Amino acid sequence: MRNRIIAGNWKMNLTPTETEDYIRSFLPLVVNPLCPRSANATPDPGGSERGLPDVGVVLIPPFTSLDRAGRLLVGCPSISLGAQDLHFEKSGAFTGEVSATMLVDCSCRYVLVGHSERRHVFGESTALIAAKLQAALGSGLVPILCVGETLDERRRGSTLDVLVRQLSTALAAPNLDGCNLRLESVVIAYEPVWAIGTGETASSLQAEETIREIRAWIASALGTESAEQMGILYGGSVKPSNTAELLSQPNIDGVLVGGASLKPDSFASIVSMASASRSEPA
Ligand code: PEP
Repeated sequence: MRNRIIAGNWKMNLTPTETEDYIRSFLPLVVNPLCPRSANATPDPGGSERGLPDVGVVLIPPFTSLDRAGRLLVGCPSISLGAQDLHFEKSGAFTGEVSATMLVDCSCRYVLVGHSERRHVFGESTALIAAKLQAALGSGLVPILCVGETLDERRRGSTLDVLVRQLSTALAAPNLDGCNLRLESVVIAYEPVWAIGTGETASSLQAEETIREIRAWIASALGTESAEQMGILYGGSVKPSNTAELLSQPNIDGVLVGGASLKPDSFASIVSMASASRSEPA
């Protein structure tokens, strides 16, 4: 069975000080017993019942909070750190940019690649996203490759074409020589653009159907084994009230959460729902 992943993308929110407060509140709510050495996390007697060893949690704060978060999460194997973006070069004259090597040195294990805000607000092309995916894999960072259609594209009936274009450009590009990671370690996040930050969620059936189509495309392009191994998340206005329903779908391996990950208690309640048993993919 594929690992279940619950990732929280904080976007441009929370300072390093606020990050520290967040993590000190969050740890006792979800994994206190699994984080015996986490920096001064307040023990919570209820914590052990809420320990979630079968769920991979990823916190994705802004760059400025990574180092502080990494230090607070030492000794806490079930919570990983992710970054929101990276540059494809290793170093050099790229003012304002951050490389994969720098992220690894800040304890990052994951990195978002091609988030819809990068594609639509910052105009990132599929070719640039492919280069970033390659750079992540080359440095041993697990890319969370975000794909999704706009409302117009969905209404025109071109959802699958758009997703296939985004997936094929990114997944065809990597040269895996010398990489520690296999292509199957890429995590895909299906995030319909019309559902991000809008309060509008794809229904669990819509999300399941599209993710099933993504998995079928992966099977045809990369083989059945790859399709069975790759984790595919849903993202777009996920909140505690719709998480259980989304996670009950056989092809949805987890969720990428924006707004609802900004409060430790709401993100903790999403994490706790992920421990519910799941059925095998159809
Ligand atoms: C996101 O930023 O990836 C996201 C899904 O945001 P929200 O949950 O706020 O829609």
